[in-house]
Amino acid sequence: MAQLSERVRGLVQPYLAGIEPYDPNFTPCRVNLSANENTYPMPVEARASIDAALAATPLNRYPDPMSNDLRAEIAAWHGVDANCVCVGNGGDELLYNFLLAFGGEGRTLLNCPPCFSEYAFFASLAQTDVLDVWRDKVTFQLDQAAVLAAAPRCNLAIVTSPNNPTGDLAPVDFVRELCAACPGLVMVDEAYGEFADPSTSCEGLLAECDNLVVLHTLSKAFGMAGTRLGYVIAAPDVIDAFGAIRQIYSVNVLTQAAALAAVRARDQFAPVVAHIREERSRLLAGIRTLAADGYAIESWPSEANFVLVRTPNATRVRERMRDEKSILVRDFSYAPGLADCLRITVGTPDENTEVLVALAELVEKE
Ligand code: PMP
Repeated sequence: MAQLSERVRGLVQPYLAGIEPYDPNFTPCRVNLSANENTYPMPVEARASIDAALAATPLNRYPDPMSNDLRAEIAAWHGVDANCVCVGNGGDELLYNFLLAFGGEGRTLLNCPPCFSEYAFFASLAQTDVLDVWRDKVTFQLDQAAVLAAAPRCNLAIVTSPNNPTGDLAPVDFVRELCAACPGLVMVDEAYGEFADPSTSCEGLLAECDNLVVLHTLSKAFGMAGTRLGYVIAAPDVIDAFGAIRQIYSVNVLTQAAALAAVRARDQFAPVVAHIREERSRLLAGIRTLAADGYAIESWPSEANFVLVRTPNATRVRERMRDEKSILVRDFSYAPGLADCLRITVGTPDENTEVLVALAELVEKE
């Protein structure tokens, strides 16, 4: 997508004039490990249930706005009441709606970069100020004390657990303190939560923190990024606000049917997630071996389905992976705090082996 023309810059609302179109920096490649998708084949029986559900879905009727069958199934899975769940067109829509409903002019979002860039983008669309509390430059851990000190001055906060692109968790005890310190809502984005130990989820805090919102998606662990289904879990009155401002038909009938079948078949996805976690360990171990052998590559532990690495001339390394090996990974070199960093999605065993072979060839020796 192109930049806004001068003409259109003069026509859009003044606060939007500086906006840049989102560029996922995508090039078709044989091995695509750039967007933290799930590259494993979907479990065969789950796929068959989804296909049957899609085939049985009439297309002539409008969708149920609140996706009640789906939210009831999600609620039963998470052990909450159905009125504690709202679904959306991917987690992205719910993040936008969070800012739209609870942010706005004169309000401030507490953000902990480097993190998912959409938070700041949606804040700008919703004319919400952003207060950045940067993570540690070396370890990328949250600066918990600084976040808690800033929280009373903020109207809402988002922390990501595991964080994209750094892969670390927000500790549950810290989130509890953050909920107490922030006068408004605190969202914990657990888009990658299934790849971490279940004990690290902040969902258990929902019973005691009525200002907590937990975000999930079927895009990652369930391998359904194309389906576009995310959901939030929160107190019923918070969910009412999500329900009131949403585009009523944003989750179409096919997505509702596919997501319901997938959530019913959820147990079948557990082996895939376990496999990705094993492969994450193997990929990280391989990268650490390269470092031990004198290759200039640094990595960080990850609880998600991706790993972050830092290597000299990362942009060039990524281009060569793309052009010479047809392997696409994500370049974060341009992002503040992430100089020379690449994010590599954990793929299938063959894909990960290809990544390790390519890194051994393209990364500089110290
Ligand atoms: N949160 C985080 C941290 C993400 O990385 C993403 C996707 N990249 C999302 C939310 C949204 O995912 P989706 O819209 O596909 O549900």
